[in-house]
Amino acid sequence: MLGAIDIGGTKLLAAVAGDDRRPGPAVRRPTPAERPVETLMEMLDEVRGGKALEGLAVAVPGPFDRSRGALVNPPNMPPCWRDLALAERLGERYGCPVLLENDANCAAVAEVTAGAARGSESCVYFTVSTGIGTGVVVHGRPLTGRNDTEGGHQVLWPAWLGGPPCHCGGHGCLESLASGLAIAHRFGVDAEHLDDPAAWEDVGRWLGLGVVNAIALHDPDVVVLGGGVCQRWERFWPSLSATVDSALFLQPRPPVRRATLGDDRNLWGALALAGG
Ligand SMILES: [Zn+2]
Repeated sequence: MLGAIDIGGTKLLAAVAGDDRRPGPAVRRPTPAERPVETLMEMLDEVRGGKALEGLAVAVPGPFDRSRGALVNPPNMPPCWRDLALAERLGERYGCPVLLENDANCAAVAEVTAGAARGSESCVYFTVSTGIGTGVVVHGRPLTGRNDTEGGHQVLWPAWLGGPPCHCGGHGCLESLASGLAIAHRFGVDAEHLDDPAAWEDVGRWLGLGVVNAIALHDPDVVVLGGGVCQRWERFWPSLSATVDSALFLQPRPPVRRATLGDDRNLWGALALAGG
């Protein structure tokens, strides 16, 4: 039996899977500000029901230390999640291999395995949520580079042209223009409650440029966008799609789709990667 955990800024999910690697019903809890590993163990113990785990896959916010299997300094998380040797501590407790993977990479693999990119050889996935993350899948595997891709911090509006500051220290990153936090900051209202068509047109343009750059660099079979802001898909899609059409000349346009899996997407991806 394989176990999977998804560590997010606001919630934790845990589930187990059988041989088909589909996550069973997930247990969820708010992300705690203390006892992080103990909380994860309680959740795992609840879903495994006394059975042994043969492997454990954990979707984590980046940046993280892949070689040590440790969280480093995840943004928007309480201090107790910093410098946390998760693979070591969970491995000791359950006596099984523990795989950590970037949550956007897990989401990308999940959409290729069972979602909007099913059957594709290559995919670029954007999580458009509080922040913006990217996962690139080539031949079914996440492309990690030296550390990980950070497509949310591609610069679209540089400092020398007046681009707004980004929390990463840069200016004019996609995340500073079209993420959930950026929308709240720029338009004074959460994405969930934003109704101004001009504001959504602007968000769609920036996302569209991000998609164009992803296509220019990776020429993927499909581009998929998921995450909380995509609940307002119909608001920004016309502008996103028009931007892709207006900026892509040398490459045929691949399908650009909304993600289809639910919020246990990262568990799907983590399980697909575990032992594979
Ligand atoms: Zn940035």
